Amino acid sequence: MPSTDISMDKITSLAKRRGFIFPGSEIYGGLANSWDYGPVGIELKNNIKAHWWKTFVHDRSDIVGLDAALIMNPRVWEASGHVAGFSDPLVECKKCHHRFRADMLPGNACSDCGGKLTAAKQFNLMFKTSIGPAEEEGNKAYLRPETAQGIFVNFKNILDTTRQTIPFGIAQMGKSFRNEITTGNFIFRLREFEQMEIEYFIREKNWKKYFEEWRRAMLAWMETIGLDMQRVHELEVPSDDRAHYSKRTIDFEFDYPFGRKELYGLAYRTDYDLRQHEEYSGANLKYHDPETNEEFIPHVIEPSLGVERTVLALLLSVYREEGEGKEKRVYLKFPPTIAPYKVAVFPLLKNKPALVKKAREIFDDIKKTFVTAWDDRGNIGKRYYYQDEIGTPFCVTIDFDTLEDNAVTVRDRDTMKQERLAVDELKKYLEEKII
Ligand code: ATP
Repeated sequence: MPSTDISMDKITSLAKRRGFIFPGSEIYGGLANSWDYGPVGIELKNNIKAHWWKTFVHDRSDIVGLDAALIMNPRVWEASGHVAGFSDPLVECKKCHHRFRADMLPGNACSDCGGKLTAAKQFNLMFKTSIGPAEEEGNKAYLRPETAQGIFVNFKNILDTTRQTIPFGIAQMGKSFRNEITTGNFIFRLREFEQMEIEYFIREKNWKKYFEEWRRAMLAWMETIGLDMQRVHELEVPSDDRAHYSKRTIDFEFDYPFGRKELYGLAYRTDYDLRQHEEYSGANLKYHDPETNEEFIPHVIEPSLGVERTVLALLLSVYREEGEGKEKRVYLKFPPTIAPYKVAVFPLLKNKPALVKKAREIFDDIKKTFVTAWDDRGNIGKRYYYQDEIGTPFCVTIDFDTLEDNAVTVRDRDTMKQERLAVDELKKYLEEKII
C-alpha cells in the first residue's frame, strides 16, 4: 500500500494500540485535543528531539543551546508584538453557536449547519495565567506561544558567556501554548505542543546566503529522519501573508491525509525582535565585532519546527502494510536512529530458566549501547508482529541451540530475513546497522 493512501484512522488506531499516543485524560472522558505520549511514543519523540539537537547543536561549532522559562515577564510579549497582534479572526455561527477561524472556512456560512456567521473579531491566541495567589491585573502573565522570544531575551547573556562570533545560532526546544480557535486532525493542531527553534544571527548583507543554507539544512534533516520527501513541498509565502517583520518566509508543507498543510517554517525575521527588545527593555542588545569594532543589531534567520507535526508526518511516511489475510503485516520503517527501540531480545520460552538467564545476559549487554526491548510473552510470531508495529529494526532470539553454540537468530524488520550470528559478533553487527 503506497504510504500516501494511509488514512488518519489507521495512524491514530496504531498509535493508541501500541502505546505511541493516547487521548489525554481518557478515563474522565478526555479533554478536547489533548494527547499523552505512551511508552513507545516518548521514545520516538525523544529520538526526534535528540537527533535535531545533535545535528544542529553538537555537530556544529556555531550553535549553542538554551532552555528558557515558559512563563516570562509579560513585557516580553508586548515587545514582540504578541499582546497586540497574535490573534486569529474568530466567527460564531448564529444558529448552532460553533466557533471557527474565519480564514479557514471555505465559504461565508457555518460549515456544520450552514447557519449565518457573526462578523469576525480578533481573538488573541496567548494562554493567560496569573502569578501568585491574587488574580489581579498586575499579576497577569502568559504561557509562551513560541520558544523564539526566550532566545532573543538571552541574546546578551549568551554573547557575554560564550566564545561565539557572528554568524552563530542559539537553539531551543520545548513546550509552547496557543489557545487555537479550532484544533484537530489528531496531533496536527494542538493547544500545547513542542517546538524546536534556532535563531541564527547574521549580518544583514548575508541574509540571502544563510537563508539558502538553512533551506538546504532543513531539507537534509527531514530526509535523514525518514520523512517521505515526495510529500514535502516548499511554499514561498507571499508578502501579504507574511508576518510584517519578515522579508522572506518559506513554509515547508506536507501532504497529510487531510490535505497539504504546514509542517515547518523558515523565516528571515530581520533585526525586528532584538530591536524591539532593546527599545522596550532599555538594554543594549548590539553586537560588538571584536575585529572591526563595529556595533550593530544582528539580523536573524529562523528555522522553526514543530515536534508533534514531525511525529505525525513521520508516522505517515514510515507506515507499511504488506500481504493479505493471515500473511498481512504492518510495520513502521523508521531509520534505526529514530526507531523507539533499536533491538528486541526474546528468550524462546519463558518457562526455561537456562534460556531466560542467557537472554537476560545478552539483553543486559546490548542495552548498554542501544535502547532495547524485552519480550517473553506469547509465541515468537506474535512478538515479531508487535515489534514490527512499533518499528523495531532487529529482533534477537535465544533458543536451545544458543546454549550449545553461543549463537542467536537475528531477524530484520524490513526483509524479515533471519540469520544466525555468534553472540560475540552481535554487538558489532548491530553497531554497523544502527549507528
Ligand atoms: P499554522 O499556520 O499551521 O497555524 P504557524 O505559521 O502559526 O502555523 P509558526 O508560528 O510558524 O506556525 O510555528 C512554527 C512551527 O510550530 C510550525 O511550523 C508547526 O510545526 C508548529 N506549530 C505551530 N502551531 C502549532 C499548533 N497549534 N500545534 C502543533 N504545532 C504547531
